[in-house]
Amino acid sequence: MNNMLACPSCGLDETESIVHGGSYILRCAACGEAIVATSFMAMLDSDHRCSAFVDPGPGKHPAPDMLVADGPLRQIATAISAAARDGTLIRLIPEAKD
Ligand SMILES: [Zn+2]
Repeated sequence: MNNMLACPSCGLDETESIVHGGSYILRCAACGEAIVATSFMAMLDSDHRCSAFVDPGPGKHPAPDMLVADGPLRQIATAISAAARDGTLIRLIPEAKD
């Protein structure tokens, strides 16, 4: 969950974390280009707190009522997988630590 990767299409280094089916994708926040994809399963062994939303599209902020789940990744993984199973894109937003 870092922003060190730059988009090959537009060069912006601002990425969004997306779950699509069983894949975890870093997507450019400007043009929507997928930059890196890995297995969502590889992300799950984590207590990193995230909020998961139905994805509103590149560069857009999800509305509060689009929330799927929030909490440590390993605890919300089931809800995310269930929501993503039908092809819905799920945006993961890391929660800032207090
Ligand atoms: Zn881009």
